[in-house]
Amino acid sequence: MPITAYSQHFEKELDAEQLLALMNARSTPPAAYSLEQLPDQWREWIKQDVRCPSCGAPGAQIVNGATARASSTVMRQPHFRFVAQDGGDAHHRFCDFHHWDEHAPHSDSLVNFGSARSRETRLVRMLVCKAIERRLFSQADIRAMRQWFFDTKSQNRYVVAATEQALEYRWRLRCHTHHFGLEFHPSHAAMPGFDWDEAALSEFSRVYKPVLDRFNYVRPPTAAHTRARALAKHFGEEVFDTSVLEPFYKQTLNLCTFFATHTPELGYSRHAAMMFRWEGASTVLLAFCALLLHVSAWDIQVAIAKLGQLLASPPPADDTLGNVIGLNPFHDYLAWQLVKEASQLAVEQPDDLDYEAQLRTLKAEMQSDYDAWKQRQ
Ligand SMILES: [Zn+2]
Repeated sequence: MPITAYSQHFEKELDAEQLLALMNARSTPPAAYSLEQLPDQWREWIKQDVRCPSCGAPGAQIVNGATARASSTVMRQPHFRFVAQDGGDAHHRFCDFHHWDEHAPHSDSLVNFGSARSRETRLVRMLVCKAIERRLFSQADIRAMRQWFFDTKSQNRYVVAATEQALEYRWRLRCHTHHFGLEFHPSHAAMPGFDWDEAALSEFSRVYKPVLDRFNYVRPPTAAHTRARALAKHFGEEVFDTSVLEPFYKQTLNLCTFFATHTPELGYSRHAAMMFRWEGASTVLLAFCALLLHVSAWDIQVAIAKLGQLLASPPPADDTLGNVIGLNPFHDYLAWQLVKEASQLAVEQPDDLDYEAQLRTLKAEMQSDYDAWKQRQ
């Protein structure tokens, strides 16, 4: 359910309201249809003209936004759905939006205008229009970036081997980021308030350091784990290997952090901006910052110079020039990363994935070391 899609006729990626504004303005005589009362003929034209921003599939339908009745808060903004001739999902099997409705009704790619983050959406939309107006990037660049991400991912694939147990094991490893791996000595337990459970966790961090070192560069949020469990139903199937995007993801998060830290209008605290590198940034920021980097050959200094230029320039004359916010190029990145890592674990140590048992064994060994040590005292 992308928020924006590519109009072949207008040669632009647009959100539903921008598309309608252009259609109304260009029709003779000019029309004033709203999204709720689109004539069938217009719906048919949209179906033929508008393409998925990720895989290029045809068959676009506009799904209207929703408003909460009591507060008249906008709960969901209008978006596009792509339907095949047979009524099924029109997206390419490897498209980010494949089976979207079914699996991710509240996914990170839909921006909620009812939330406090809506000012971020509006600011980014304005910056995109400014950038197009000032020729910092074009609609063709937006298309090219989409294609680049799609091609890069589809050239790198692997077969999902992540079992439920492997995913759980990988998830439990995240708790070990804060331990520094002090080696246990039985004398530690002579402390009157000694905490065996904490000590066992710390010892785990030391003993399993080689495994942890491979995986602990991020501390994924719970939502990524929940999503990873849903994605793992692709067990045995070939999927995109998003780990090929890692350097680009990290660079994009760096730019998101810089942008949020130095742009109070976005409404992030300094701490919240710092957390991006662990938990990921919003869809809107990721999409915009990835585009700025893409047109700067992924050089962050060049991208920051462009960002400064955009923020300091006057508002755009035309706010229907484009909208990049509909698709996060790092869609489900953290969840897919967990699936990939759990797949590796399931292949490399299939009989060694019982986290609780490993912890229990360690604790029992430590306690018996302590008993032996005590008798020698
Ligand atoms: Zn698609």
